[in-house]
Amino acid sequence: PDPAQPWVGQRVGCLGGGQLGQMLALASLPLGLRFTFLEPQEGAAAAAVGRQLVGPYDDPALLQRLGEESDLVTFEFESVPETSAALLAESGPVFPPPRALAVGQDRLLEKQLFQSLRIETAAYAEVGSPAELAAAAQMGLPALLKSRRLGYDGHRQCLVLEASQLEQAWQELGQVPSILERLVPFERELSVLGVRGREGETATYPLVENHHQEGILRLTLAPAPQLTPELQAEATAIAGALLEQLEYVGVLAVELFQMEGRLLANEIAPRVHNSGHWTIDGAPCSQFENHLRAGLGWPLGGTENSGYTAMLNLLGEEPDPDEVLTLPDAHLHLYGKEPRPRRKLGHVNITGEDPRRVTAQLKALAKALRVSVPASADPASYWSVGSP
Ligand code: AMP
Repeated sequence: PDPAQPWVGQRVGCLGGGQLGQMLALASLPLGLRFTFLEPQEGAAAAAVGRQLVGPYDDPALLQRLGEESDLVTFEFESVPETSAALLAESGPVFPPPRALAVGQDRLLEKQLFQSLRIETAAYAEVGSPAELAAAAQMGLPALLKSRRLGYDGHRQCLVLEASQLEQAWQELGQVPSILERLVPFERELSVLGVRGREGETATYPLVENHHQEGILRLTLAPAPQLTPELQAEATAIAGALLEQLEYVGVLAVELFQMEGRLLANEIAPRVHNSGHWTIDGAPCSQFENHLRAGLGWPLGGTENSGYTAMLNLLGEEPDPDEVLTLPDAHLHLYGKEPRPRRKLGHVNITGEDPRRVTAQLKALAKALRVSVPASADPASYWSVGSP
């Protein structure tokens, strides 16, 4: 870049080239930025809006090229090899900080971080052997045995209802370093997104409520129905403590359980997050733009909700555009990915000032797409407390 105008034509490198990378690059275009992705999958979603280097995330030559051709580097998934992030950090700024990756990749470090900040979690214990597992089970069952490090879908946690199932769970998980975590009878699942800039300034988006289907996020309601100022303050404090402790730069997602009016932290994602897709149409500044602004050292944009948004993920198949776009407040976002069962192919944001109107359209869309809508999305209770 021109030293007199260092902001012109900045180049962002990104590890990973899926839909999150695509949406980051989309947000970057009006800001005058250019993206290069390192991604092994040929013709990745992000390649539609940036340049793609095709190859493994830990290829030294490609990492060097990405570093040389970027003024700053970020990542769009959390299983980025920590060594790759560290290597890139030697030649230029990498955000979020690689340390956040290390924590996000290890459930034990995550839990310990929460604990050190007095953020409440489900009771848990570290497990490294069958004997430790038996000892951990003394804290009570049912519990989930979760592998410390990310496995692949469904293969990294195992429900243990009674002591006789411990041995089998240990085997099923692959005898890997794990944690045993008490099952929490939570009322609902929420998440909060915080963003921290290079000078340490922070902003937090409203808490949102998440609904999953077969373990995959299906629906986000933003803000979370019945959101009180107290609950939001608790979430903001949790996000703020984590951002500060990690000396974080960029967007951080925190997945939470609500139980008896309190928040328990489940896990963090050191990146932009699916439960923040509503911000594209429902907030003054999207999570994608704010992530970039943070990394660039630019002022952060507004994070308050500009109305009510229901975000419905499109899984497995692309809908007929007519079914979506006939709804006046629906925004269709497709990622251009090959359809495959359960795959995230896009999302729809329905945003408006009147929650009843949003709810009615959500229901119509869900019906057309044959998706069930949770009871909390009933107009009678939906967003009845708290105004945007
Ligand atoms: P995780 O991989 O930790 O995000 O867990 C996946 C899902 O399992 C969460 O979204 C929850 O629905 C459920 N889950 C995880 N941990 C617990 C827990 N301690 N108690 C109850 N449900 C949990």
